[in-house]
Amino acid sequence: MLETVYFIPVERFEGFGGVSAAAGALLRRLLTDTALDVRGELPVKVHFGEKGNTTFIPAAYYDGLLDVLRAGGAEPFYIETNVLYRGQRTHRADHERLAVEHGFTQVPVRIADGESGEAYTEVEINAKHFRKCKVGELFSHYDRMLVVSHFKGHVLAGFGGALKQLAMGCAARGGKMDQHARAVPLILPWKCHKCHVCERACPVGAIHIGAWPRISKTKCIGCAACIAKCPHGAVTPRSWNSLGGGFIERLTEYAYAAQKGKRCLYLSFALNLTWGCDCQGQTMRAVAPDLGILACTDPIAIDQACLDLLDARPGRRVYRRGRQALAYGEKLGMGSRTYTLQRLDAP
Ligand code: SF4
Ligand code: SF4
Repeated sequence: MLETVYFIPVERFEGFGGVSAAAGALLRRLLTDTALDVRGELPVKVHFGEKGNTTFIPAAYYDGLLDVLRAGGAEPFYIETNVLYRGQRTHRADHERLAVEHGFTQVPVRIADGESGEAYTEVEINAKHFRKCKVGELFSHYDRMLVVSHFKGHVLAGFGGALKQLAMGCAARGGKMDQHARAVPLILPWKCHKCHVCERACPVGAIHIGAWPRISKTKCIGCAACIAKCPHGAVTPRSWNSLGGGFIERLTEYAYAAQKGKRCLYLSFALNLTWGCDCQGQTMRAVAPDLGILACTDPIAIDQACLDLLDARPGRRVYRRGRQALAYGEKLGMGSRTYTLQRLDAP
């Protein structure tokens, strides 16, 4: 039987009583379908948005989801991992403080990979790039999870949805480095204004902006902070093609590891469709109109559905890169790119 992806388009939000209630209705539908017992502690994978980012999914949009979980007897909590680059989400205490600043106070916040990303569990997958993956330690305590994603663009992965939320979002620091390995970017000298923003953003001091700006291949950990931070678009991956195969496959293998052995529900807010991701502490403009909210039990199907809905819109095609992740995820057995889309009607 084909996987069903439930969808509430933005035009129908009002009929449900707003964004949060629409999200709640989708989750209620998934719980009815799956008969998943949510009683007890239940992790809700979240992204709090980097400081300065204005387009992450606001905390209030999670209210409906949390209400539905509580009504089912769950004790939900937010779960997240520290990031690789230097920012306010690099260390647990700062990360938790930012979560509160951004309004994520409805339920407890738990950082899954320790103080600075050092705590992980190795998940055995025996795939092409990795035999074992370093997933944030706390995830190993739970066999169920609600994975909430913001579907939008991403400087390296092309787009970020459920797959990306599992891969980078659940990996401990070492796992994030594993995925980024060999993704050393390039500075285009003719675009560089020598503002030194990238030097300050680099967590390992790999950038030197002298007469000729350069990045040390031996020091760089491929975190992409410099690509995200450069205000002039002067930092770029060496080659999208060479990055594509290896990086995207490594990312997908980590996504596979993060969900392996768990029953996961996926909900994606396809709103604020920016070119970059919520890790970027800056204001970004949308590259496409809002779509709505989608929910499913299959991370491949839900990302594929978001892309298909976007492709069906008239105008410029966005998020063209990184789509091979879905084919590779399908090959790994994570899910299917074939699905049926069912729009939910307001009650
Ligand atoms: S941030 Fe961009 S423009 Fe500024 S020094 Fe770095 S590469 Fe050059
Ligand atoms: S040079 Fe490498 S390590 Fe430094 S910010 Fe850029 S990608 Fe990250």
